[in-house]
Amino acid sequence: MLGLEGKTAFVFGVASEDSIAWAICKHLAAAGVTLYLGYQKRFMSRVFKLKDELPAIAGFYPLDVAQDATTKEFFTAFSADHPGKKADILIHAIGFAPRSCFDRPVLFVEDEDINTAMTISANSLQRCLKHALPHLNPGSSTITLTYAASTRFVPSYGIMSMAKAALECWTRELACHLGPEGHRINAISSGPIRTIAASGIPGFDRILDHVEANAPLRRNVSQEDVAGTTLWLSSPLSSGVTGQCIHVDAGFSITMVPESIMN
Ligand code: NAD
Repeated sequence: MLGLEGKTAFVFGVASEDSIAWAICKHLAAAGVTLYLGYQKRFMSRVFKLKDELPAIAGFYPLDVAQDATTKEFFTAFSADHPGKKADILIHAIGFAPRSCFDRPVLFVEDEDINTAMTISANSLQRCLKHALPHLNPGSSTITLTYAASTRFVPSYGIMSMAKAALECWTRELACHLGPEGHRINAISSGPIRTIAASGIPGFDRILDHVEANAPLRRNVSQEDVAGTTLWLSSPLSSGVTGQCIHVDAGFSITMVPESIMN
């Protein structure tokens, strides 16, 4: 039904069993997709332990999107091991900002730290796709992960709000650039989920409580909720969808004034 049997995916962004990318790996594997993971060296031991749980993982290589050269190294290593092999799906589940991006008002964050957050959390989508393109089959699907602070103020999300806005803009630009060749690029805007990346955001637990109390579905989303929509965006079932930002957030993004003020 999903039409993913026999397909291949590059998955970037597994750091632990809580990573959204890990739930995506499990969903893709269950649909018959072979996986090649790009991991950050500091998470190597965790990723190596996890990979034994999924026989669908056919290879894994270091990936550091902070530099163009280290991004390219992933694809050089992949193609050396699998000459001529191409993928159909690219998962970009990468985000990072230095601590100083969260511990002071945005006005006082240093240029260097803003640049790091923008490079890794936004511009890396372009960097990954540029090097991936020769290794992608026609009609590929790329999915990146964003957050609603791209368009609305969320206290403590700071510089990451600007990075997510840029990431969504990259999604539209790249979708228009690569659409004529049949490649699709979409973003999923996930509600808050406890992961390593989220643990760096001050007040994160209070954001989770607020969403649970006020989202139309009266709950937070899980990694599996995001993985389900990723599976759909990876598959031919979404063949007419590109350049979009799809909210998987229990409906929270459609609300403005919480119902609780009426009590
Ligand atoms: P996570 O910590 O499990 O994943 C973040 C990943 O980014 C890690 O695998 C890490 O290795 C990778 N990464 C960071 N710097 C990198 C670099 N220089 N090179 C290569 N990889 C690098 O957390 P997560 O929450 O699963 O995050 C995945 C994506 O989902 C991120 O883009 C995040 O902003 C986004 N997102 C998360 C939430 C949430 O609440 N958890 C909500 C919306 C969007």
